[in-house]
Amino acid sequence: MEFNVGVIKGDGIGPEIVTEAQKVLDKIAVSFGHNFIYKDILMGGCSIDATGVPLTDEAIADALASDAVLMGSIGGNTATSPWYKLPPEKRPEAGLLKLRKSLNLFANLRPAYLYEELKEACPLREDIIGDGFDMMIMRELTGGLYFGARETKEVDGVMTAVDTLSYNEDEIRRIAKRGFDIAMKRRKKVTSVDKANVLDSSRLWRKVVEEVAADYPEVELEHMLVDNAAMQLVKDPKQFDVILTENMFGDILSDEASMVTGSIGMLSSASLNETKFGLYEPSGGSAPDIAGKGIANPIATILSAAMMLRYSFDLDKEADAIEASVKKVLQQGYRTIDIMPQEADKRAAVTQVGTSEMGDLICKNI
Ligand code: NAD
Repeated sequence: MEFNVGVIKGDGIGPEIVTEAQKVLDKIAVSFGHNFIYKDILMGGCSIDATGVPLTDEAIADALASDAVLMGSIGGNTATSPWYKLPPEKRPEAGLLKLRKSLNLFANLRPAYLYEELKEACPLREDIIGDGFDMMIMRELTGGLYFGARETKEVDGVMTAVDTLSYNEDEIRRIAKRGFDIAMKRRKKVTSVDKANVLDSSRLWRKVVEEVAADYPEVELEHMLVDNAAMQLVKDPKQFDVILTENMFGDILSDEASMVTGSIGMLSSASLNETKFGLYEPSGGSAPDIAGKGIANPIATILSAAMMLRYSFDLDKEADAIEASVKKVLQQGYRTIDIMPQEADKRAAVTQVGTSEMGDLICKNI
């Protein structure tokens, strides 16, 4: 099959890690008989340098014309880069916000998976980790408290600030459907997280999620209050498959879940809209401190490419092949610098490799 992939290499380590993900996609193309046609799209600091703005209309049109977009990361050193002397709407990150808005990306997916070989980077106790955990945080991205009306004003001589948390049933239904679809591709369990004992928006959330669940009889649904979910993530993370939640709760829980897995260089992510389209990117930033040194970990970007195959192109076997290869390479003892063990004896038992060598090893094991 043939797919058009928009490629945003971006800034800092972006071009280095995306190059490795493309290498892996090309290996998949050869092994499984597909054709990935790439279109480079400028966004971020590199776009500012070339065009004066972080994202041009032409770049948005190119992204819209693609079947999916694979992205590295954007931005520079916020203290020293001239990009951060520009007004906020001209800075690199403004390009990403504009792109997310233009593509109506309302569902954010972040897997939190603990690799056996990287267990020691997990801050949880051995008995809690057990055989590891594998969950997916599905966060609503374009509604709720972060997008509601807000104001700060004086009321009866006292400064008062108001933020509005609003969701309508359509916004809840479309993300819930996405969550259940994803669960169908996994272990078929959805934990919907809310604060229905206090908030009206959560009570509507719960009602609509239950309506959607009726269309997915194979999927087990449970509801959990957000304060309990925050505790359960560190007490017993194994119980979760898909965590479905609104914007602010998802913001907090997805960071908590990613911390318990260890390295930022391993964490992929996807942002989806109502169609099959998605924007796939590593969870980390452009890491200007290590850019150009050939030592960045490309695995998060390679796993993001695997998510693209699974969720935008329905190529599950191909996505499985990439994920299995990453596991194999870790089992063989290869590590980039960020996932090297701390203790000397454990360091001696593994082999440190650079960005491009890691990409080559993952290709070789497909
Ligand atoms: P960062 O994630 O870029 O870096 C934090 C630390 O993690 C650094 O020590 C870095 O070397 C390390 N790191 C990150 N990715 C790594 C990888 N793949 N391999 C090995 N080590 C890795 O966060 P920051 O330093 O706060 O931000 C740097 C720039 O990135 C800023 O301009 C920020 O705005 C931008 N940023 C962009 C995105 C995005 O493109 N979606 C996300 C977050 C931050």
